[in-house]
Amino acid sequence: MAILEESVRTTDVPGSHLRLSVVTPCFNEEDVIGETYLRLTGVCREICGEDYEIVFVDDGSNDSTWTKLEDIAHADPRIVALKLSRNFGHQAALTAGLQLARADRVMMIDADLQDPPELLGGMLAKMDEGFDVVYGKRIEREGETRFKKASASVFYRVLSKLTEVDIPQDTGDFRIVNRKVLDALLSLPEHHRFVRGMVAWLGFQQYAFPYVRQKRFAGTTKYPLRKMVRLAIDAITGFSVRPLRISIWFAMAALTASLALIVYTFVSWLLFDTVKGWASLLIAISIFSAANFLCLGIFGEYLGRLFTESKRRPLFLIDEIKVGKTSAACGIATKNK
Ligand code: UDP
Ligand code: MG
Repeated sequence: MAILEESVRTTDVPGSHLRLSVVTPCFNEEDVIGETYLRLTGVCREICGEDYEIVFVDDGSNDSTWTKLEDIAHADPRIVALKLSRNFGHQAALTAGLQLARADRVMMIDADLQDPPELLGGMLAKMDEGFDVVYGKRIEREGETRFKKASASVFYRVLSKLTEVDIPQDTGDFRIVNRKVLDALLSLPEHHRFVRGMVAWLGFQQYAFPYVRQKRFAGTTKYPLRKMVRLAIDAITGFSVRPLRISIWFAMAALTASLALIVYTFVSWLLFDTVKGWASLLIAISIFSAANFLCLGIFGEYLGRLFTESKRRPLFLIDEIKVGKTSAACGIATKNK
């Protein structure tokens, strides 16, 4: 990390004191990246003059995203383009960008322009009022499938029931944090990261900034069901041990059912002269084995996470960094601070 910071920090970015860093993870975003750069730059210039930087993180794209980022970084000294060695996932890519961000305030925003960069002014004004975190709260989501909206709504409600931390509903990773919060966030070492939950866990003064989430500017979602489920499991296992307790309820339910079955079997044996009962046997076996497998699965999720955390591998690996006209090839691992 030291070498990495050195290579970026010594680069000549105009303005002695950066007011804002924007961090944008990108995965196969060739259709939007040019427009995102223009809109972000327009807004940042208007509000911060020259005192800003935009950190684009290419999360192992296999389209022309990186070539485009290289061109943009070559032409504009306020751009830092970071290429990860492969696809590490949105949350890891976001963390990579956050580690490089140098300003006092840092904005996290997706590359697809669903979260309007033009809200920057209003959000910064809230920071000026003394808030440490200003996060976007979606009051409406345009152009998203019914399934996505319904699954997100169920997910956030289940999450709030399960977790001890009050994770705000209907928020994503669109937010501005100050240096104090960013340093605290980067000091959390976990591998399976659910950034919005982690920021909520940190505390400090937080403000929910209402906004209408737009349609994706171009391209398709990079969060297929598989990745959404993984994020949801990371969120739940990262913030709650309640699912582990569910197995106790299953065990109690199974015990009650088996007591009833014992009574039933005994009465049948006493009153009727039949030993059929294969159906009840089959039902009992399937119920109990399903409950067993479920509990094993829950244990497995937590055990697997303990295993990955105990390996202490870096969250991501950096392949290359481009800043202005300079470039640094970094085959080095970065760790959490
Ligand atoms: N993303 C990423 N790595 C991934 C998946 C997504 O860096 O493995 C980025 C993506 O380019 C975008 C952001 O994360 O900037 C959110 O993804 P997307 O907009 O596709 O998710 P959705 O808004 O559909 O949930
Ligand atoms: Mg999106």
